[in-house]
Amino acid sequence: MLSRLRPREFVASIYEIDWRELYRRGMRAVLTDLDNTLVEWNSPVATPQLLTWLNEVRTLGFEVCIVSNNDAKRVLEFAERVGIPAIYKAGKPRRRSYLKAMRMLGVEPSATVMVGDQIFTDVLGANRLGLYTILVKPIHPREFVGTRLMRRMERLILRQLPSPAVAADTEDRNER
Ligand SMILES: [Mg+2]
Repeated sequence: MLSRLRPREFVASIYEIDWRELYRRGMRAVLTDLDNTLVEWNSPVATPQLLTWLNEVRTLGFEVCIVSNNDAKRVLEFAERVGIPAIYKAGKPRRRSYLKAMRMLGVEPSATVMVGDQIFTDVLGANRLGLYTILVKPIHPREFVGTRLMRRMERLILRQLPSPAVAADTEDRNER
């Protein structure tokens, strides 16, 4: 159970991820959570930094799709503004929306990264399908009231997990 909750990487933000290296390792698609991963919860504003990032990862060769549990209006308005496909009311951690997104983009789970700020939705659902999971720190403390309860449980899990950075290093060493 714990291993399903454990991200492959845990970083401060999407801007701290080595996307070039992930592409080199065969990753071709990025499924991303929206609220508190790309922008603040319910914020309609795509920051210049986010737009630059989007441009960079797409130039590298990644397909990008938002997979969000938020509602149609919020998710589609934002996705349209930044020009990427999106799935709303995704029902994460259920598998169907990840599968739908990968079908849309034409990619396999083994070539797909999922990035999000929540263990019990973003990470758990993606791990169930064998995606490469990256947990980011929430952009801003303000969030959906239901999420705050989850955060308490998340803290318990995070405390029990070895540092993801250290774990990744160990795996690399074993491979050599
Ligand atoms: Mg989120």
